[in-house]
Amino acid sequence: MDPAHGPSGRTLLTAIFGDPVVHSLSPAMHNAAYAALAMDRAYVAFHVTPAHLREALRAIPALGIAGVNLTVPHKERAMRMMATLTEEARLLRAVNCVINRNGELHGDNTDARGLESDLREQDVTVTGKLAVIIGAGGAASAAVLAAIRLGAARIVICNRTISRANRLARSFAQYLGARGGGRPHETIEARGLDALVNATTMGAAGIVINATPMGLKTGAFTSLSYTTTPAECVFYDMIYAREATTFLAPALANGRRGIDGAGMLINQGVLAFELFNGVAPPSGVMRTALMLALGRS
Ligand code: NAP
Repeated sequence: MDPAHGPSGRTLLTAIFGDPVVHSLSPAMHNAAYAALAMDRAYVAFHVTPAHLREALRAIPALGIAGVNLTVPHKERAMRMMATLTEEARLLRAVNCVINRNGELHGDNTDARGLESDLREQDVTVTGKLAVIIGAGGAASAAVLAAIRLGAARIVICNRTISRANRLARSFAQYLGARGGGRPHETIEARGLDALVNATTMGAAGIVINATPMGLKTGAFTSLSYTTTPAECVFYDMIYAREATTFLAPALANGRRGIDGAGMLINQGVLAFELFNGVAPPSGVMRTALMLALGRS
């Protein structure tokens, strides 16, 4: 695409659907990669409400859109609207990438791989440790899968609605059982948010991952015993912001390591870019664009 003249009749589109979507930094990352590769492609954000999700997905082949990222609140519902799904999207019960394969919609999910590679890049050791995961939606299921792949010894899923935590724990227990030769099912537990102030649980935590939007809009985060955690416990917030998030600020104040979800966003975006365009973005371009958008150096 010629940056001076913008998209032409030949420009191929990729996109993100969300509600809200105005805050999304994905367009900045993907368009920076297109510019670096001099590709005649553009990535745009569409505000799609739940009532219009089906119509919007149906329009993808009609408009010749190559691929679409899905964000809150569409990831789970979109599953039923795909022609085919990867095993990982099925396991996570959520789709964050829709690939247009000759007019058929193929659903994948890059969140678990994005989180796993960020934790590896940041040298966070999860092997043999207790991972406490807050939330029970699509992002939490990605965190559970990443924790399993990184060798967590035990996983505690803490959620406001305990029945959702139970459902997630059961589905991963089945996954571990079907995989065979792995750990016993009781290594994944479902609890309420009160577990976050339980001294025994928090005293054993190797990593605490926030996979909820808590702190994003309301500013408030549920009670959590930061000081009970071991000094080397890592706090990871899937939310990313210019400053320390409501979840991370007390962790940092108490001398714990805190990491926000910027790296996960970059890594899932790199994987999505490859799925949509069949080519990898140049190294570091999406990271630089995101850091610029976040006002970080
Ligand atoms: P979701 O499916 O809507 O899940 C929301 C979860 O948050 C549920 O477990 C819900 O609990 C809990 N929750 C919501 N509001 C709450 C509140 N006020 N108090 C306590 N719990 C609350 O969303 P999602 O797709 O899993 O995403 C979760 C977060 O992760 C979002 O902020 C999203 O932006 C972020 N995320 C970041 C990345 C990244 O790349 N950095 C990737 C994916 C997601 P109930 O079950 O009780 O309703």
